[in-house]
Amino acid sequence: MATLKEQLEARVAEYDRWAIRRQYGADGPNMRRLWVLACMDERLPVDEALGICADTPVGGGDAHLFRNAGGIVTDDAIRSAMLTINFFGTKEIIVLQHTGCGMLSANGNDLVAALKAKGIDVDNVPMDPSLPEMSLQAGAFGKWIGMMDDVDETCIKCVEYLQKHPLIPDDIVVSGWVWETEFRRLRAPTTDPDARARTQYSAVSMGVQGSQPPRWK
Ligand SMILES: [Zn+2]
Repeated sequence: MATLKEQLEARVAEYDRWAIRRQYGADGPNMRRLWVLACMDERLPVDEALGICADTPVGGGDAHLFRNAGGIVTDDAIRSAMLTINFFGTKEIIVLQHTGCGMLSANGNDLVAALKAKGIDVDNVPMDPSLPEMSLQAGAFGKWIGMMDDVDETCIKCVEYLQKHPLIPDDIVVSGWVWETEFRRLRAPTTDPDARARTQYSAVSMGVQGSQPPRWK
């Protein structure tokens, strides 16, 4: 049996390597070699939804976690994914979006109009103060906001974009998931209305034959 001195030495050495593991590049990946793209919504509990400890040291830090409005693929999401996948040993991508998302709650055109009403020139907004080369073409601001018509369709599209993106190698596993905010439940994105409304609300839906002994009549 190891002495406490030996155990402490091992623990200290392990922590020292953990603290500087990023300098090892692909040989110092996060615990699950995982990059998560998730909506910033405070009601989307990434760790609970995925069963991981995304960006806390508890358990070592399972993933690189990127959050933005909607959990959608944007230029900075691509930048972050490119880095973790090509240089930090990440092998898997999860796209995590959710029902009741704020990005479903308004029409992007109305948001543009509201900003214009405040006197903002939406066609001349710095996209990245340190990168003036990056700019939007006139009229593109509304699209840039990224409001969604349908969270499932958007999630599926984001997965497809990442799978096809030239900076994401073909062997990277990419999947998308939708967190049902109302039910605290994770499901695969789908456009099947029955699947989306799926709840076991009756005995029939659980395969029970015949009527129950009458009590709730
Ligand atoms: Zn959201």
